[in-house]
Amino acid sequence: MDLKQLYQDIILDHGKSPRNFGKCVGYNSEAKGYNPLCGDLVQVYLKLNDKKKVEDLTFEGSGCAISMASASIMTDLVKGKSCEVAKKIINAFLKMVKSSSEIKSEDLDNDQITKIMSLSGVKQFPMRIKCATLSWHTLISAMEEKKEEVNTEAID
Ligand code: ZN
Repeated sequence: MDLKQLYQDIILDHGKSPRNFGKCVGYNSEAKGYNPLCGDLVQVYLKLNDKKKVEDLTFEGSGCAISMASASIMTDLVKGKSCEVAKKIINAFLKMVKSSSEIKSEDLDNDQITKIMSLSGVKQFPMRIKCATLSWHTLISAMEEKKEEVNTEAID
């Protein structure tokens, strides 16, 4: 199986049956995000414990397969990480979809790198980049406890 096919299969799988979908019990922060270009809506629920570790992370929303798959992969990879590591992963992801072709992270194992890399194909489709980054920007907002809704048109 070639890599392109593998990446497509991962996106289809996560798009069809998103992981960590719904409100998690005891979340202590949440944020909303909207991508008006495509109509993707996402709401992120974050449960941080007193050691600033992501104890639980879930999402709700509706939108295209890329936006849902990206949110699903994000929750899958960030859950269980410390806030500091989560931010590093978010930055590495945003860099990957916008500019670089690889992702370098000491905080992800090979399986997780493959999952995150499955979204690298959006670079060829500028319209889809915001579909992929929406949930990640929304997670940053939840971590920083911003009250404003994230709008991808207000982000570069
Ligand atoms: Zn979309």
